[in-house]
Amino acid sequence: MKKHLGPLAVLAAGILLGIIPLATPAPKPADAPGFSAARAREDILRVAAAPHTVWDQASLVPVRDHIRSRLAGMGLAVATYRYPPVTDAFGHSYTLENIAAAIPGKSGRSILLVSHYDSSPKKRAAEQEGSRGAADDGYGIATMLEIARVLAAGKDTLENGVRFLFTDAEETGLHGAAAEMTHNLAAYADVDLAINVEARGVKGPAVMFETGRNNLATLRLYRNARWPFAYSFAVDVYRNMPNGTDLTQFLKKGFAGLNFAVLDDLSYYHTTRDNPDNISLRSLQHYGEQILPVVLEYSRDPRYGRPGAFAAAEDMVYFTWLPGILVSYPATAAKIISILTTILFVAWTARALVRKEARIGSALLWFLAWLGMAALALGIGLGTSVLLAKATGIPWKVTYMPGVPFDRAITWVLVFLETLVPYLLASRRARKGGEIGSLLAAAMALNLVMLAVFHRFLPGGSFMFALPLLAALAGSWLASRTGRAWIVWIPAALSIGLFLPILHLVGLALTIGALGIVTLLAFFPLTLAGPLLVLGRPAGRERPCGSG
Ligand SMILES: [Zn+2]
Repeated sequence: MKKHLGPLAVLAAGILLGIIPLATPAPKPADAPGFSAARAREDILRVAAAPHTVWDQASLVPVRDHIRSRLAGMGLAVATYRYPPVTDAFGHSYTLENIAAAIPGKSGRSILLVSHYDSSPKKRAAEQEGSRGAADDGYGIATMLEIARVLAAGKDTLENGVRFLFTDAEETGLHGAAAEMTHNLAAYADVDLAINVEARGVKGPAVMFETGRNNLATLRLYRNARWPFAYSFAVDVYRNMPNGTDLTQFLKKGFAGLNFAVLDDLSYYHTTRDNPDNISLRSLQHYGEQILPVVLEYSRDPRYGRPGAFAAAEDMVYFTWLPGILVSYPATAAKIISILTTILFVAWTARALVRKEARIGSALLWFLAWLGMAALALGIGLGTSVLLAKATGIPWKVTYMPGVPFDRAITWVLVFLETLVPYLLASRRARKGGEIGSLLAAAMALNLVMLAVFHRFLPGGSFMFALPLLAALAGSWLASRTGRAWIVWIPAALSIGLFLPILHLVGLALTIGALGIVTLLAFFPLTLAGPLLVLGRPAGRERPCGSG
Protein backbone atom coordinates (compact mmCIF):
# COMPACT_ATOMS: atom_id res chain seq x y z
CA MET A 1 0.00 0.00 0.00
CA LYS A 2 2.83 2.35 0.91
CA LYS A 3 4.10 2.42 -2.67
CA HIS A 4 0.74 3.80 -3.82
CA LEU A 5 0.91 6.81 -1.48
CA GLY A 6 3.19 8.87 -3.73
CA PRO A 7 1.07 8.31 -6.87
CA LEU A 8 -2.10 9.09 -4.87
CA ALA A 9 -0.56 12.39 -3.73
CA VAL A 10 0.36 13.18 -7.35
CA LEU A 11 -3.19 12.39 -8.43
CA ALA A 12 -4.52 14.70 -5.69
CA ALA A 13 -2.14 17.45 -6.85
CA GLY A 14 -3.37 17.01 -10.44
CA ILE A 15 -7.01 17.21 -9.32
CA LEU A 16 -6.25 20.37 -7.34
CA LEU A 17 -4.52 21.92 -10.37
CA GLY A 18 -7.60 21.08 -12.41
CA ILE A 19 -10.11 22.48 -9.93
CA ILE A 20 -8.34 25.84 -9.43
CA PRO A 21 -9.22 27.28 -12.89
CA LEU A 22 -12.91 26.58 -12.17
CA ALA A 23 -12.92 29.10 -9.31
CA THR A 24 -15.01 32.24 -9.78
CA PRO A 25 -14.23 35.64 -8.27
CA ALA A 26 -15.83 36.90 -5.04
CA PRO A 27 -18.65 39.34 -5.83
CA LYS A 28 -17.77 42.99 -5.24
CA PRO A 29 -20.06 44.99 -2.95
CA ALA A 30 -22.27 47.81 -4.22
CA ASP A 31 -19.88 50.53 -3.04
CA ALA A 32 -16.80 49.04 -4.72
CA PRO A 33 -15.24 50.74 -7.74
CA GLY A 34 -15.34 48.95 -11.09
CA PHE A 35 -17.74 46.10 -11.83
CA SER A 36 -19.92 45.15 -8.87
CA ALA A 37 -22.11 42.05 -8.98
CA ALA A 38 -24.05 43.35 -6.00
CA ARG A 39 -25.00 46.45 -7.99
CA ALA A 40 -25.71 44.50 -11.18
CA ARG A 41 -28.00 42.18 -9.22
CA GLU A 42 -30.44 45.07 -8.70
CA ASP A 43 -31.08 45.10 -12.45
CA ILE A 44 -31.72 41.35 -12.48
CA LEU A 45 -34.30 41.76 -9.70
CA ARG A 46 -36.15 44.31 -11.84
CA VAL A 47 -35.85 42.53 -15.18
CA ALA A 48 -36.66 39.07 -13.79
CA ALA A 49 -39.57 40.12 -11.57
CA ALA A 50 -41.82 38.05 -13.87
CA PRO A 51 -41.56 36.04 -17.09
CA HIS A 52 -41.18 38.41 -20.03
CA THR A 53 -41.70 36.59 -23.30
CA VAL A 54 -42.57 37.66 -26.81
CA TRP A 55 -45.74 35.56 -26.64
CA ASP A 56 -47.03 37.95 -23.96
CA GLN A 57 -46.10 41.35 -25.41
CA ALA A 58 -47.41 43.26 -22.38
CA SER A 59 -44.89 41.44 -20.17
CA LEU A 60 -42.00 42.98 -22.14
CA VAL A 61 -43.06 46.57 -21.43
CA PRO A 62 -41.64 46.90 -17.90
CA VAL A 63 -38.37 45.29 -19.01
CA ARG A 64 -37.96 47.70 -21.92
CA ASP A 65 -38.85 50.62 -19.65
CA HIS A 66 -36.28 49.56 -17.08
CA ILE A 67 -33.46 49.25 -19.63
CA ARG A 68 -34.34 52.60 -21.20
CA SER A 69 -34.59 54.44 -17.91
CA ARG A 70 -31.27 53.01 -16.68
CA LEU A 71 -29.44 54.05 -19.87
CA ALA A 72 -31.09 57.49 -19.85
CA GLY A 73 -30.18 57.86 -16.17
CA MET A 74 -26.52 57.47 -17.12
CA GLY A 75 -26.88 60.34 -19.56
CA LEU A 76 -26.84 58.13 -22.65
CA ALA A 77 -29.08 58.76 -25.67
CA VAL A 78 -31.38 55.77 -26.08
CA ALA A 79 -32.46 54.63 -29.55
CA THR A 80 -35.24 52.20 -30.39
CA TYR A 81 -35.15 50.19 -33.60
CA ARG A 82 -38.60 48.91 -34.57
CA TYR A 83 -39.20 46.24 -37.20
CA PRO A 84 -42.32 44.86 -38.88
CA PRO A 85 -43.93 41.70 -37.49
CA VAL A 86 -42.21 38.34 -37.76
CA THR A 87 -43.89 34.97 -37.37
CA ASP A 88 -41.83 32.51 -35.33
CA ALA A 89 -41.58 28.76 -35.76
CA PHE A 90 -44.38 28.30 -33.21
CA GLY A 91 -46.84 30.42 -35.21
CA HIS A 92 -46.76 33.55 -33.03
CA SER A 93 -46.48 36.97 -34.71
CA TYR A 94 -45.18 40.18 -33.14
CA THR A 95 -43.30 43.35 -34.04
CA LEU A 96 -39.70 43.71 -32.94
CA GLU A 97 -38.21 46.41 -30.79
CA ASN A 98 -34.46 46.52 -30.10
CA ILE A 99 -33.02 49.01 -27.67
CA ALA A 100 -29.64 50.65 -28.31
CA ALA A 101 -27.27 53.17 -26.79
CA ALA A 102 -23.76 54.30 -27.60
CA ILE A 103 -20.76 55.99 -26.00
CA PRO A 104 -18.85 57.30 -29.03
CA GLY A 105 -15.06 57.46 -29.17
CA LYS A 106 -12.68 59.81 -30.97
CA SER A 107 -11.73 57.28 -33.64
CA GLY A 108 -15.29 56.68 -34.85
CA ARG A 109 -14.79 52.88 -34.50
CA SER A 110 -16.79 50.82 -32.01
CA ILE A 111 -17.21 47.60 -30.13
CA LEU A 112 -20.77 46.29 -29.65
CA LEU A 113 -22.14 44.59 -26.53
CA VAL A 114 -25.23 42.45 -27.10
CA SER A 115 -27.74 40.69 -24.85
CA HIS A 116 -31.41 39.82 -25.27
CA TYR A 117 -34.19 41.05 -23.02
CA ASP A 118 -36.87 38.43 -23.72
CA SER A 119 -37.13 35.30 -21.58
CA SER A 120 -37.88 31.79 -22.82
CA PRO A 121 -41.59 31.22 -23.53
CA LYS A 122 -41.23 27.44 -23.22
CA LYS A 123 -43.20 25.84 -20.41
CA ARG A 124 -43.05 22.29 -19.18
CA ALA A 125 -46.40 20.56 -18.95
CA ALA A 126 -46.73 20.76 -15.17
CA GLU A 127 -45.49 24.34 -14.86
CA GLN A 128 -47.84 27.28 -14.33
CA GLU A 129 -45.21 29.90 -14.95
CA GLY A 130 -42.27 29.91 -17.35
CA SER A 131 -38.69 31.05 -16.90
CA ARG A 132 -38.20 34.50 -15.41
CA GLY A 133 -34.96 34.84 -17.30
CA ALA A 134 -32.89 35.91 -14.28
CA ALA A 135 -29.80 34.29 -15.76
CA ASP A 136 -30.95 33.99 -19.38
CA ASP A 137 -30.53 36.74 -20.11
CA GLY A 138 -30.63 38.76 -16.89
CA TYR A 139 -26.88 38.16 -16.55
CA GLY A 140 -26.36 39.73 -19.99
CA ILE A 141 -28.56 42.77 -19.37
CA ALA A 142 -27.15 43.41 -15.89
CA THR A 143 -23.54 42.96 -17.06
CA MET A 144 -24.05 45.43 -19.90
CA LEU A 145 -25.80 48.03 -17.73
CA GLU A 146 -23.05 47.80 -15.10
CA ILE A 147 -20.36 48.21 -17.79
CA ALA A 148 -22.29 51.15 -19.26
CA ARG A 149 -22.37 52.74 -15.79
CA VAL A 150 -18.58 52.44 -15.41
CA LEU A 151 -17.94 53.82 -18.90
CA ALA A 152 -20.52 56.60 -18.72
CA ALA A 153 -18.58 58.19 -15.87
CA GLY A 154 -15.79 59.08 -18.32
CA LYS A 155 -17.79 59.12 -21.50
CA ASP A 156 -16.10 62.06 -23.26
CA THR A 157 -12.65 60.56 -23.05
CA LEU A 158 -12.95 57.30 -24.98
CA GLU A 159 -10.52 56.70 -27.82
CA ASN A 160 -12.84 54.07 -29.36
CA GLY A 161 -16.58 53.85 -28.88
CA VAL A 162 -18.71 51.29 -27.04
CA ARG A 163 -22.23 50.47 -28.22
CA PHE A 164 -24.98 48.56 -26.46
CA LEU A 165 -27.75 46.53 -28.10
CA PHE A 166 -30.57 44.85 -26.16
CA THR A 167 -32.36 42.55 -28.57
CA ASP A 168 -35.95 41.38 -28.77
CA ALA A 169 -37.17 37.83 -29.57
CA GLU A 170 -33.88 35.95 -29.22
CA GLU A 171 -35.53 32.96 -27.58
CA THR A 172 -37.89 32.29 -30.47
CA GLY A 173 -35.31 32.39 -33.24
CA LEU A 174 -32.78 35.24 -32.87
CA HIS A 175 -35.29 37.56 -34.57
CA GLY A 176 -34.16 40.86 -33.01
CA ALA A 177 -30.51 40.38 -33.96
CA ALA A 178 -31.47 39.04 -37.38
CA ALA A 179 -33.59 42.16 -38.04
CA GLU A 180 -30.58 44.40 -37.30
CA MET A 181 -28.43 42.47 -39.74
CA THR A 182 -31.13 42.31 -42.44
CA HIS A 183 -32.72 45.77 -42.24
CA ASN A 184 -30.18 47.95 -40.46
CA LEU A 185 -26.72 46.62 -41.34
CA ALA A 186 -25.42 50.04 -42.44
CA ALA A 187 -25.88 51.30 -38.87
CA TYR A 188 -23.13 48.86 -37.82
CA ALA A 189 -20.50 50.05 -40.29
CA ASP A 190 -18.41 51.43 -37.41
CA VAL A 191 -18.48 48.15 -35.44
CA ASP A 192 -15.47 45.82 -35.58
CA LEU A 193 -16.23 43.38 -32.77
CA ALA A 194 -19.45 42.11 -31.15
CA ILE A 195 -19.45 40.75 -27.59
CA ASN A 196 -22.53 38.67 -26.75
CA VAL A 197 -23.46 38.00 -23.13
CA GLU A 198 -25.60 34.89 -22.66
CA ALA A 199 -26.47 32.13 -20.19
CA ARG A 200 -27.12 28.42 -20.68
CA GLY A 201 -27.48 27.59 -17.01
CA VAL A 202 -27.47 29.73 -13.87
CA LYS A 203 -24.09 29.34 -12.20
CA GLY A 204 -20.44 28.34 -12.49
CA PRO A 205 -17.72 30.13 -14.41
CA ALA A 206 -18.68 32.45 -17.26
CA VAL A 207 -17.07 30.69 -20.21
CA MET A 208 -15.84 32.54 -23.27
CA PHE A 209 -17.04 29.75 -25.52
CA GLU A 210 -17.28 31.18 -29.03
CA THR A 211 -15.40 33.54 -31.32
CA GLY A 212 -15.50 34.41 -34.99
CA ARG A 213 -13.21 32.61 -37.44
CA ASN A 214 -9.53 33.62 -37.47
CA ASN A 215 -9.68 34.89 -33.91
CA LEU A 216 -5.99 35.73 -33.38
CA ALA A 217 -6.46 39.49 -32.95
CA THR A 218 -9.73 39.00 -31.04
CA LEU A 219 -7.92 36.76 -28.56
CA ARG A 220 -5.15 39.33 -28.11
CA LEU A 221 -7.84 41.71 -26.86
CA TYR A 222 -9.51 39.00 -24.76
CA ARG A 223 -6.19 38.33 -22.98
CA ASN A 224 -6.90 41.56 -21.05
CA ALA A 225 -9.70 39.79 -19.14
CA ARG A 226 -8.89 39.65 -15.44
CA TRP A 227 -10.19 36.08 -14.88
CA PRO A 228 -10.04 34.64 -18.39
CA PHE A 229 -11.84 31.33 -18.74
CA ALA A 230 -11.71 29.91 -22.22
CA TYR A 231 -10.64 26.79 -24.12
CA SER A 232 -10.11 26.84 -27.88
CA PHE A 233 -11.36 23.24 -27.84
CA ALA A 234 -14.82 24.57 -26.83
CA VAL A 235 -14.89 27.01 -29.74
CA ASP A 236 -14.18 24.19 -32.19
CA VAL A 237 -16.88 21.98 -30.69
CA TYR A 238 -19.39 24.85 -30.67
CA ARG A 239 -18.67 25.65 -34.33
CA ASN A 240 -19.78 22.09 -35.12
CA MET A 241 -23.02 22.31 -33.12
CA PRO A 242 -26.40 23.53 -34.38
CA ASN A 243 -26.93 25.89 -31.39
CA GLY A 244 -27.11 29.60 -32.02
CA THR A 245 -27.19 32.87 -30.10
CA ASP A 246 -27.57 36.47 -31.25
CA LEU A 247 -23.84 36.42 -31.99
CA THR A 248 -24.49 33.90 -34.79
CA GLN A 249 -26.22 36.68 -36.75
CA PHE A 250 -23.24 39.02 -36.38
CA LEU A 251 -20.65 36.35 -37.20
CA LYS A 252 -22.57 35.51 -40.38
CA LYS A 253 -22.01 39.09 -41.52
CA GLY A 254 -18.28 38.83 -40.88
CA PHE A 255 -17.99 40.69 -37.57
CA ALA A 256 -15.35 39.52 -35.13
CA GLY A 257 -16.95 38.19 -31.95
CA LEU A 258 -16.67 36.96 -28.40
CA ASN A 259 -19.46 35.01 -26.71
CA PHE A 260 -19.84 34.44 -22.97
CA ALA A 261 -22.17 32.12 -21.04
CA VAL A 262 -22.43 30.22 -17.78
CA LEU A 263 -23.17 26.54 -18.43
CA ASP A 264 -23.94 25.19 -14.96
CA ASP A 265 -26.69 23.93 -14.42
CA LEU A 266 -28.46 23.12 -17.67
CA SER A 267 -31.45 21.60 -15.84
CA TYR A 268 -32.35 25.15 -14.67
CA TYR A 269 -32.16 26.56 -18.20
CA HIS A 270 -35.51 27.76 -19.63
CA THR A 271 -37.43 26.59 -16.53
CA THR A 272 -39.10 28.29 -13.55
CA ARG A 273 -35.84 27.68 -11.70
CA ASP A 274 -34.16 30.38 -13.79
CA ASN A 275 -35.32 33.00 -11.28
CA PRO A 276 -33.58 35.60 -9.08
CA ASP A 277 -33.30 33.18 -6.13
CA ASN A 278 -30.98 30.94 -8.11
CA ILE A 279 -28.55 33.42 -9.63
CA SER A 280 -24.91 33.34 -8.56
CA LEU A 281 -23.24 36.64 -7.73
CA ARG A 282 -19.86 34.95 -8.26
CA SER A 283 -20.88 34.08 -11.84
CA LEU A 284 -22.16 37.61 -12.40
CA GLN A 285 -18.89 39.04 -11.10
CA HIS A 286 -17.02 36.65 -13.39
CA TYR A 287 -18.75 38.08 -16.47
CA GLY A 288 -17.71 41.55 -15.32
CA GLU A 289 -14.12 40.59 -14.49
CA GLN A 290 -13.69 39.36 -18.03
CA ILE A 291 -15.73 41.75 -20.14
CA LEU A 292 -15.12 45.11 -18.43
CA PRO A 293 -11.28 45.02 -18.75
CA VAL A 294 -11.62 43.89 -22.38
CA VAL A 295 -14.00 46.78 -23.15
CA LEU A 296 -11.83 49.27 -21.25
CA GLU A 297 -8.70 48.17 -23.09
CA TYR A 298 -10.51 48.48 -26.41
CA SER A 299 -11.86 51.93 -25.56
CA ARG A 300 -8.40 53.24 -24.63
CA ASP A 301 -6.00 51.72 -27.15
CA PRO A 302 -5.61 53.75 -30.40
CA ARG A 303 -4.52 50.52 -32.15
CA TYR A 304 -8.18 49.52 -32.37
CA GLY A 305 -9.26 52.81 -33.93
CA ARG A 306 -9.16 51.58 -37.53
CA PRO A 307 -11.50 49.42 -39.60
CA GLY A 308 -10.55 45.76 -39.60
CA ALA A 309 -8.60 45.97 -36.35
CA PHE A 310 -9.58 42.34 -35.60
CA ALA A 311 -8.82 40.91 -39.03
CA ALA A 312 -6.39 37.98 -38.86
CA ALA A 313 -5.33 35.05 -40.98
CA GLU A 314 -5.50 32.35 -38.33
CA ASP A 315 -6.97 31.17 -35.05
CA MET A 316 -5.39 31.16 -31.64
CA VAL A 317 -5.03 27.98 -29.57
CA TYR A 318 -5.65 28.75 -25.89
CA PHE A 319 -6.63 27.43 -22.48
CA THR A 320 -6.95 28.68 -18.93
CA TRP A 321 -4.20 27.65 -16.57
CA LEU A 322 -4.78 28.61 -12.93
CA PRO A 323 -7.04 31.65 -12.39
CA GLY A 324 -5.98 34.69 -14.33
CA ILE A 325 -3.64 32.93 -16.76
CA LEU A 326 -4.68 32.35 -20.34
CA VAL A 327 -2.05 30.41 -22.26
CA SER A 328 -2.41 31.24 -25.94
CA TYR A 329 -0.43 30.83 -29.13
CA PRO A 330 -1.20 31.05 -32.85
CA ALA A 331 -2.37 27.94 -34.73
CA THR A 332 0.88 28.02 -36.72
CA ALA A 333 2.85 27.73 -33.49
CA ALA A 334 0.59 24.82 -32.50
CA LYS A 335 1.58 23.02 -35.70
CA ILE A 336 5.27 23.63 -35.03
CA ILE A 337 4.86 22.36 -31.45
CA SER A 338 3.19 19.20 -32.79
CA ILE A 339 5.94 18.53 -35.32
CA LEU A 340 8.57 19.07 -32.63
CA THR A 341 6.68 16.71 -30.31
CA THR A 342 6.64 14.03 -33.01
CA ILE A 343 10.42 14.34 -33.59
CA LEU A 344 11.12 14.18 -29.86
CA PHE A 345 8.87 11.12 -29.55
CA VAL A 346 10.76 9.30 -32.31
CA ALA A 347 14.10 10.16 -30.68
CA TRP A 348 12.85 9.14 -27.22
CA THR A 349 11.49 5.83 -28.49
CA ALA A 350 14.66 5.01 -30.42
CA ARG A 351 16.70 5.64 -27.28
CA ALA A 352 14.38 3.55 -25.12
CA LEU A 353 14.59 0.66 -27.63
CA VAL A 354 18.38 0.83 -27.83
CA ARG A 355 18.64 0.83 -24.05
CA LYS A 356 16.11 -2.01 -23.87
CA GLU A 357 13.84 0.07 -21.69
CA ALA A 358 11.11 -0.63 -24.21
CA ARG A 359 10.61 -3.47 -26.68
CA ILE A 360 9.06 -2.95 -30.06
CA GLY A 361 6.78 -6.01 -30.05
CA SER A 362 5.59 -5.28 -26.56
CA ALA A 363 5.00 -1.59 -27.39
CA LEU A 364 2.93 -2.56 -30.44
CA LEU A 365 0.81 -4.93 -28.36
CA TRP A 366 0.32 -2.23 -25.73
CA PHE A 367 -0.68 0.25 -28.40
CA LEU A 368 -3.46 -2.12 -29.47
CA ALA A 369 -4.36 -2.73 -25.84
CA TRP A 370 -4.65 1.01 -25.10
CA LEU A 371 -6.71 1.44 -28.25
CA GLY A 372 -9.04 -1.38 -27.18
CA MET A 373 -9.37 0.07 -23.70
CA ALA A 374 -10.16 3.52 -25.19
CA ALA A 375 -13.00 1.92 -27.13
CA LEU A 376 -14.11 0.20 -23.94
CA ALA A 377 -14.03 3.55 -22.07
CA LEU A 378 -16.26 5.03 -24.76
CA GLY A 379 -18.58 2.00 -24.59
CA ILE A 380 -18.88 2.07 -20.80
CA GLY A 381 -19.60 5.81 -20.75
CA LEU A 382 -22.08 5.55 -23.57
CA GLY A 383 -23.75 2.45 -22.10
CA THR A 384 -24.05 4.10 -18.68
CA SER A 385 -25.71 7.20 -20.15
CA VAL A 386 -28.16 5.06 -22.13
CA LEU A 387 -28.99 3.03 -19.00
CA LEU A 388 -29.49 6.27 -17.05
CA ALA A 389 -31.88 7.46 -19.75
CA LYS A 390 -33.83 4.22 -19.45
CA ALA A 391 -33.86 4.38 -15.64
CA THR A 392 -34.96 8.03 -15.42
CA GLY A 393 -37.21 8.21 -18.47
CA ILE A 394 -35.23 11.23 -19.71
CA PRO A 395 -34.73 10.76 -23.47
CA TRP A 396 -31.12 9.92 -24.36
CA LYS A 397 -29.42 12.61 -26.40
CA VAL A 398 -25.69 13.12 -26.67
CA THR A 399 -25.93 16.93 -26.42
CA TYR A 400 -28.92 17.45 -24.15
CA MET A 401 -29.98 15.18 -21.31
CA PRO A 402 -30.41 17.44 -18.29
CA GLY A 403 -31.91 16.56 -14.93
CA VAL A 404 -30.38 13.12 -14.31
CA PRO A 405 -29.92 12.83 -10.52
CA PHE A 406 -26.29 12.54 -9.33
CA ASP A 407 -25.03 13.09 -12.89
CA ARG A 408 -21.89 14.85 -11.65
CA ALA A 409 -21.10 12.15 -9.07
CA ILE A 410 -21.68 9.34 -11.58
CA THR A 411 -19.34 11.02 -14.08
CA TRP A 412 -16.49 11.54 -11.63
CA VAL A 413 -16.76 8.08 -10.08
CA LEU A 414 -16.45 6.56 -13.57
CA VAL A 415 -13.48 8.80 -14.43
CA PHE A 416 -11.80 7.93 -11.13
CA LEU A 417 -12.23 4.20 -11.74
CA GLU A 418 -10.82 4.78 -15.19
CA THR A 419 -7.80 6.51 -13.66
CA LEU A 420 -6.99 3.33 -11.74
CA VAL A 421 -6.87 1.09 -14.83
CA PRO A 422 -3.67 2.31 -16.56
CA TYR A 423 -2.00 2.79 -13.18
CA LEU A 424 -2.81 -0.70 -11.88
CA LEU A 425 -1.82 -2.27 -15.21
CA ALA A 426 1.56 -0.51 -15.13
CA SER A 427 1.93 -1.34 -11.45
CA ARG A 428 1.28 -5.05 -12.09
CA ARG A 429 3.77 -5.10 -14.93
CA ALA A 430 6.42 -3.50 -12.71
CA ARG A 431 5.77 -6.12 -10.02
CA LYS A 432 6.24 -8.90 -12.56
CA GLY A 433 9.52 -7.37 -13.65
CA GLY A 434 8.40 -6.20 -17.09
CA GLU A 435 9.64 -2.91 -18.54
CA ILE A 436 7.26 0.07 -18.25
CA GLY A 437 8.86 1.83 -21.21
CA SER A 438 6.76 -0.18 -23.67
CA LEU A 439 3.53 0.92 -21.99
CA LEU A 440 4.66 4.52 -22.00
CA ALA A 441 5.88 4.45 -25.61
CA ALA A 442 2.55 2.95 -26.69
CA ALA A 443 0.60 5.56 -24.71
CA MET A 444 2.67 8.32 -26.28
CA ALA A 445 2.02 6.88 -29.74
CA LEU A 446 -1.71 6.78 -29.02
CA ASN A 447 -1.69 10.43 -27.89
CA LEU A 448 0.30 11.29 -31.01
CA VAL A 449 -2.39 9.69 -33.18
CA MET A 450 -5.03 11.74 -31.31
CA LEU A 451 -2.91 14.85 -31.87
CA ALA A 452 -3.01 14.24 -35.62
CA VAL A 453 -6.77 13.57 -35.53
CA PHE A 454 -7.38 16.80 -33.60
CA HIS A 455 -5.20 18.85 -35.94
CA ARG A 456 -7.38 17.61 -38.76
CA PHE A 457 -10.83 18.01 -37.16
CA LEU A 458 -10.64 20.13 -33.99
CA PRO A 459 -7.35 22.06 -34.19
CA GLY A 460 -8.33 24.17 -31.16
CA GLY A 461 -7.97 21.01 -29.05
CA SER A 462 -4.44 20.14 -30.24
CA PHE A 463 -2.92 21.46 -26.99
CA MET A 464 -4.74 18.67 -25.07
CA PHE A 465 -2.47 16.08 -26.65
CA ALA A 466 0.65 18.04 -27.62
CA LEU A 467 1.36 19.53 -24.20
CA PRO A 468 0.91 16.40 -22.00
CA LEU A 469 3.08 14.50 -24.51
CA LEU A 470 5.78 17.15 -24.50
CA ALA A 471 5.68 17.24 -20.70
CA ALA A 472 5.95 13.43 -20.52
CA LEU A 473 8.91 13.41 -22.94
CA ALA A 474 10.67 16.24 -21.10
CA GLY A 475 9.93 14.69 -17.71
CA SER A 476 11.27 11.25 -18.53
CA TRP A 477 14.35 12.75 -20.20
CA LEU A 478 15.04 14.89 -17.11
CA ALA A 479 14.43 11.94 -14.79
CA SER A 480 16.94 9.95 -16.81
CA ARG A 481 19.56 12.71 -16.82
CA THR A 482 19.31 13.45 -13.12
CA GLY A 483 18.53 9.95 -11.84
CA ARG A 484 15.54 11.39 -10.00
CA ALA A 485 12.65 9.14 -10.96
CA TRP A 486 10.01 11.26 -9.22
CA ILE A 487 10.42 14.00 -11.84
CA VAL A 488 8.06 12.03 -14.12
CA TRP A 489 5.32 12.68 -11.58
CA ILE A 490 5.29 16.34 -12.64
CA PRO A 491 3.97 15.70 -16.19
CA ALA A 492 1.47 13.20 -14.73
CA ALA A 493 0.00 15.86 -12.41
CA LEU A 494 0.12 18.52 -15.15
CA SER A 495 -1.80 16.31 -17.61
CA ILE A 496 -4.53 15.55 -15.08
CA GLY A 497 -4.74 19.25 -14.16
CA LEU A 498 -5.01 20.28 -17.79
CA PHE A 499 -7.78 17.80 -18.65
CA LEU A 500 -10.00 18.06 -15.59
CA PRO A 501 -11.61 21.46 -16.33
CA ILE A 502 -12.08 20.43 -19.97
CA LEU A 503 -13.89 17.23 -18.97
CA HIS A 504 -15.98 19.24 -16.53
CA LEU A 505 -16.92 21.72 -19.28
CA VAL A 506 -17.82 18.97 -21.75
CA GLY A 507 -20.03 17.40 -19.07
CA LEU A 508 -21.71 20.75 -18.34
CA ALA A 509 -22.18 21.84 -21.94
CA LEU A 510 -23.37 18.52 -23.36
CA THR A 511 -24.83 16.95 -20.16
CA ILE A 512 -24.51 13.31 -19.10
CA GLY A 513 -25.70 12.25 -22.57
CA ALA A 514 -22.08 12.85 -23.54
CA LEU A 515 -20.68 10.63 -20.77
CA GLY A 516 -19.06 8.39 -23.41
CA ILE A 517 -17.17 11.40 -24.81
CA VAL A 518 -16.00 12.34 -21.31
CA THR A 519 -14.77 8.83 -20.43
CA LEU A 520 -13.10 8.51 -23.85
CA LEU A 521 -11.34 11.90 -23.65
CA ALA A 522 -10.23 11.20 -20.07
CA PHE A 523 -8.57 7.97 -21.11
CA PHE A 524 -5.82 9.49 -23.29
CA PRO A 525 -3.97 11.52 -20.63
CA LEU A 526 -4.52 8.64 -18.19
CA THR A 527 -2.59 6.24 -20.45
CA LEU A 528 0.37 8.59 -20.00
CA ALA A 529 -0.25 9.28 -16.31
CA GLY A 530 -0.56 5.59 -15.32
CA PRO A 531 2.95 4.47 -16.43
CA LEU A 532 4.47 7.78 -15.29
CA LEU A 533 3.00 7.35 -11.80
CA VAL A 534 4.61 3.90 -11.57
CA LEU A 535 7.94 5.03 -13.03
CA GLY A 536 8.19 7.81 -10.48
CA ARG A 537 7.82 5.48 -7.51
CA PRO A 538 10.96 4.96 -5.41
CA ALA A 539 10.69 1.17 -5.91
CA GLY A 540 10.67 1.60 -9.66
CA ARG A 541 14.07 3.22 -9.62
CA GLU A 542 15.85 0.06 -10.66
CA ARG A 543 13.80 -0.24 -13.78
CA PRO A 544 12.62 3.14 -14.91
CA CYS A 545 12.55 3.83 -18.56
CA GLY A 546 15.42 6.11 -19.26
CA SER A 547 16.95 6.13 -15.79
CA GLY A 548 20.49 5.11 -14.91
ZN1 LIG B 1 -30.44 33.45 -23.84
